[in-house]
Amino acid sequence: RFSTATATEEVITPPVQVEHTQLLINGQFVDAASGRTFPTLDPRTGEVIAHVAEGEDEDINRAVSAARKAFDEGPWPKMTAYERSRIIYRFADLLEKHNDEIAAIETWDNGKPYEQSAKVEIPMLTRLFRYYAGWADKIHGLTVPADGPYHVQTLHEPIGVAGQIIPWNFPLLMYAWKVGPALACGNAVVLKTAEQTPLSALYVSKLFHEAGLPPGVLNVISGFGPTAGAALASHMDVEKVAFTGSTDTGKIVLELAARSNLKKVTLELGGKSPFIVCEDADIDKAVELAHFALFFNQGQCCCAGSRTFVHENVYDEFIEKAKARAMKRVVGDPFKKGVEQGPQIDAEQLEKVLKYIRAGIECGATLETGGERFGTKGYFIQPTVFSNVEDGMPIATDEIFGPVQSILKFKDLDDVIRRANKSRYGLAAGVFTKNIETANTLMRALRVGTVWINCFDVFDAAIPFGGYKMSGQGREKGIYSLSNYLQVKAVVSPLKNPAW
Ligand code: NAD
Repeated sequence: RFSTATATEEVITPPVQVEHTQLLINGQFVDAASGRTFPTLDPRTGEVIAHVAEGEDEDINRAVSAARKAFDEGPWPKMTAYERSRIIYRFADLLEKHNDEIAAIETWDNGKPYEQSAKVEIPMLTRLFRYYAGWADKIHGLTVPADGPYHVQTLHEPIGVAGQIIPWNFPLLMYAWKVGPALACGNAVVLKTAEQTPLSALYVSKLFHEAGLPPGVLNVISGFGPTAGAALASHMDVEKVAFTGSTDTGKIVLELAARSNLKKVTLELGGKSPFIVCEDADIDKAVELAHFALFFNQGQCCCAGSRTFVHENVYDEFIEKAKARAMKRVVGDPFKKGVEQGPQIDAEQLEKVLKYIRAGIECGATLETGGERFGTKGYFIQPTVFSNVEDGMPIATDEIFGPVQSILKFKDLDDVIRRANKSRYGLAAGVFTKNIETANTLMRALRVGTVWINCFDVFDAAIPFGGYKMSGQGREKGIYSLSNYLQVKAVVSPLKNPAW
């Protein structure tokens, strides 16, 4: 039933050294206050890459104090916007210079194909920081035509200290989406990385300091969610928290923010995005794009096209071709050339995905290919395709976050609009059609933050991203992301000296 193609034996990068495993507080690498460490694992093998300092409450306190000092006393918000912009540009130049080492660390800790890291993600990281460097000296308020003899203006000011909690699926891209706008707007940051992938953020943050970032402006804490993450979300001196991860944890972060100091919150959460293949679509192209929409990054994307809706008239042909494409997917060591799919992030995610596959079989969906662990070492899963999936099945409602394609049949546009929108999530959607009226109808009707028409996963720095419904609050990237990190101050003064 399963015949995934094999990778070549050519290993495309030399192993790199892990240089930084401590916490980064006030511009210095330091041990955790407790002295404790935790292992970070290589998902190809489950072996330990390094032991990393484990930040907890006291470390979050130290990092927040450093950030507060950098914000309240300067130099960061007191520098000219141009000086801040220059530092971010210099950082982007260093990212470009060290592209391949950074890509290797990302792949080692996360398991994503090295070619994806080196050719797509790290160049995107550099691009994101250049985008935000460009914004730093273009942020300003308005003059307001108020009634009465007053001069009214708005100042756009940084919020203060931002706490940022990021996941493991795109460690550095999530770092850029959060750190980029926060620093461009003049805030100071305490960032908590995901416990599965602490290494790359430490490595690049060292480069940020080489680029001239003053101490305390960016602090990086490795550690676990319920300890370090919760301490950050509930800290009284943190004025904003930005979170990406699961919807359940997003609810906790929102609650911690409310219970502490009502810090401002942005959330980028889960999804169950529809990918809609219309009757008129070129089936070969639709199969390829639907495959990419689901399987990219081992299926570990919040916006993965994880409900593939196919029109009934092209359904059978689509299933045969989608199955054949999945069987050709190259699974293996992500450092080998030509590998399309590496391991899942850890044993917990491996188990979770296999559990959903079993649930799909038990509910009566047809397993077309895959369905099992791939090999015996590491956290690999066979590319899996289910047909005859019904709306209520767990594989059609829940975020699986793995290489499992669920294919559903639809009758007409009304049917697919109603069913696509019948989800607690509203992150993204894909539409595949040659008909402009169909594209326009779906684009307006789908209740999601991004609609990709005849494309998927296009992530330019300038395109806003975020969710409707339980997929989140607020937008990241683009001009919209700046408002997450700015306060608006209205300043009012009389045009003439008042009579009193
Ligand atoms: P998670 O949401 O628990 O973790 C994301 C981040 O939140 C990590 O840094 C984690 O340490 C932190 N965190 C966890 N508990 C916290 C708490 N109580 N307070 C503050 N911070 C906390 O996600 P996970 O457990 O790694 O993965 C579980 C599922 O979440 C996945 O299977 C997937 O469905 C989903 N997920 C979604 C995304 C996304 O991009 N939307 C990313 C990762 C995982």
